Amino acid sequence: MTSQFDPDRDEWTRRLAEEPAYRAEQLWQGLYLDLTDLADISTLPRGLRDRLAAELPVALAVVTESVSADGETVKWLWALEDGAEIETVLMHYPERSTVCVSTQAGCAMACGFCATGQGGFERNLTTGEIVEQVVRAARRARTDGRRVSNVVLMGMGEPLANYDRTLEAVHRMHGALGLSARHLTLSTVGLVPGIRRLADEPLPINLAVSLHAADDALRDQLVPINRRYPLADLVAACEHHQRAHSRRLSFEWALIDGVNDRDEDAARLAEIARHLRAHVNLIPLNRTPGWPTTGSPPERVTHFRRLLERRGVVATVRANRGTDIDAACGQLRAASRDGRSSTVTMVEGPTARGNRPER
Ligand code: SAH
Repeated sequence: MTSQFDPDRDEWTRRLAEEPAYRAEQLWQGLYLDLTDLADISTLPRGLRDRLAAELPVALAVVTESVSADGETVKWLWALEDGAEIETVLMHYPERSTVCVSTQAGCAMACGFCATGQGGFERNLTTGEIVEQVVRAARRARTDGRRVSNVVLMGMGEPLANYDRTLEAVHRMHGALGLSARHLTLSTVGLVPGIRRLADEPLPINLAVSLHAADDALRDQLVPINRRYPLADLVAACEHHQRAHSRRLSFEWALIDGVNDRDEDAARLAEIARHLRAHVNLIPLNRTPGWPTTGSPPERVTHFRRLLERRGVVATVRANRGTDIDAACGQLRAASRDGRSSTVTMVEGPTARGNRPER
């Protein structure tokens, strides 16, 4: 399963060994700097691009493309070559445009409140499948008059469980697409060996850890992998990452009504966050089909945040983007499970530009 965004620079040079040496450069420039579809890279002879595009097709076929009512969030459901489905979300903010990409089809981490976790694991994505999500979103951003500046590895799947391909994709985003390492963030459920490995990589990217509970008894329930990598080990791995990279560490905390939004939860979280000088991202839990609880009410969210701040911890309440198109955190693929159509559908918004079949 090799697709257009799998080969690295050396692999393209090998594939183009019979051609003049500058062809690999033209191709690389066309794909990653100009964001041009291979078949349309006009600096390459027509016959060559047709042959290469046939040998190395793109990996992502649009199943649905949805645009939020305000036009600022775009979500794609893609079908991969083997029929697996993944999602990507593009979010425009006044000062940046961020792509949230998937690293696996499904997820084996089994966090009960997460729609992807509820669906189980299918397979790892290839480097090309991860990189192509950014490229396709970057093309879309360009038609919106915007530029993708940030990537968060926070879509479907656990990036550190697909370590090598994810890291190669990160290097491609940095080296070929030109994204700054400080604008790349990897979010993990807390796979301790992976965090340590990441800390030892030369490229310093931001780390986000999905904490959700600051005591082992509760975290064992919410995030089952905690039974293998309990909090003390997780905190030690985060310390290691910070020492190595001095990049911002953040904790994700989905506020669940009556479960992890109590005053004592805030106190325990504050202790860990202050110790690690971590930033806390609070987000009221989004409802998913297979989980009985709901997000904390707004007053509780505000109160929880105040408790943290009173203890010297910086906390942000993350705006819930794309709820009207099921693009919100933890909801990816929830809607596709209960009977979607296979045609391209678009929720009308200011940036909707009609249905363009893409492949
Ligand atoms: N596996 C990685 C990245 C994917 S999940 C991780 O666990 O970090 C991205 C974020 O969405 C995580 O913080 C996850 O805990 C959170 N999330 C999952 N389901 C959610 C839900 N229903 N409501 C709010 N956040 C959710």
